[in-house]
Amino acid sequence: MSIIVQKFGGTSVRDLECMRQVANKVQRKLRRGDKVVVVLSAMAGETDRLLCLAREWAPTPDLAEMDCLVSTGEQVSVSLFAMLLKSQGVNARSLLGFQVPIETNSNFSKARIASINSKKLKALLEIHDVLVIAGFQGSDCDQRITTLGRGGSDTSAVALAAALKADVCEIYTDVPGVFTTDPNICSLARKMERIAYDEMLEMASMGAKVLHIRSVEFAKKYNVKVHVRSTFSDEPGTIVTKEDEMEGVLVSGIAYDKDQARVTLVQVLDQPGISAAVFSPIAEQRILVDMIVQNPSKDGRTDITFTVPRADLEQTLKVIEGLKYEIGFEEVRHDKKVCKISVIGVGMRNHSGVASMAFRALSEENINILMISTSEIKITCLVEEKYTELAVRTLHNAFGLDKANGQNSC
Ligand code: ADP
Ligand code: ASP
Ligand code: MG
Repeated sequence: MSIIVQKFGGTSVRDLECMRQVANKVQRKLRRGDKVVVVLSAMAGETDRLLCLAREWAPTPDLAEMDCLVSTGEQVSVSLFAMLLKSQGVNARSLLGFQVPIETNSNFSKARIASINSKKLKALLEIHDVLVIAGFQGSDCDQRITTLGRGGSDTSAVALAAALKADVCEIYTDVPGVFTTDPNICSLARKMERIAYDEMLEMASMGAKVLHIRSVEFAKKYNVKVHVRSTFSDEPGTIVTKEDEMEGVLVSGIAYDKDQARVTLVQVLDQPGISAAVFSPIAEQRILVDMIVQNPSKDGRTDITFTVPRADLEQTLKVIEGLKYEIGFEEVRHDKKVCKISVIGVGMRNHSGVASMAFRALSEENINILMISTSEIKITCLVEEKYTELAVRTLHNAFGLDKANGQNSC
């Protein structure tokens, strides 16, 4: 028995007309004799609506209750879609996360999947041809409902594909695949036939929301074949795969992330233990610090600058305020209007000059770089938010990403 996992995002299930197109995709697999596990997101805009509602009721809502609330978006999608399939004569049933069960830790709003009961799912697939499973949600050891973070339905789908050893996990969305950069802000963006897991991980963690980062981690770990493609056409999309199946490409894509804020601690004491004193309490609040720069010391004092997700800025500032006497800074500055732009490619591992090419291209457009960080397959520059689109297009052009093999092969 071949099992196919198909995940459809919010825009793919936004109304009855779209759900009919989704049903066509499912029916096509059934005609081939496959069993299908469909994973659905909430209808477009629904999760945002529920989050706003929660904030009207309480300025900082209880996270466990918030998860219970926002998970209802997916409950609506799966029940409506199962009804639609059944009305077409398909033997389908819906399942919520806790009914699978998809067990997670208790980190409400950012929970991680711990296990999935694949035995039960396989038994259900003996009875039903299609299981329609709510994405984004699970439950913890106290049977409280959890959610996996924004965009988390991708992770539900890939984790289910791994647990069921599915032939493929198809991620259907509103664009025809993974592009060299966001096709909605750069008209010259080109669809990639393939992308390596590591590159996709960097693209996702640097802001390309076409795949949730944890979904790519699962795919890489369990070697799940992921095919990102459009709900609204039949053209082949992008296969996310192992690096050894990739042709030699220097730079694969440009990602951007506006969800960033920059914090600077001015004139901190420069002595052993200060960085630990700053970053440990921030980590205890489960805040992800990304770029960090420390200036050379002068008169025993230094500046430390770092970035955090914009939504965590207030909490970060609160933590830092509490450290004033321990680390002895003069002042804290922060800036929300920044954006991280990343140039990504596994081919960079063995090539020099990529960073200088990126810096030159940005300088020719007079874009000031506020911070820089690099890894062996990525160069990230923090710039003012107003330059986001210009910076993305400039780098896309500098590396010839609009051409299949521009200045970009190694
Ligand atoms: P879904 O609701 O189907 O999960 P998302 O909105 O989460 O869809 O992800 C799809 C969006 O990701 C696209 O509409 C596009 O704007 C954005 N995106 C950002 N970077 C890329 C990229 N490199 N390739 C394709 N899409 C991208
Ligand atoms: N509905 C959730 C969100 O909007 C999960 C998802 O769409 O993947 O973030
Ligand atoms: Mg998504």
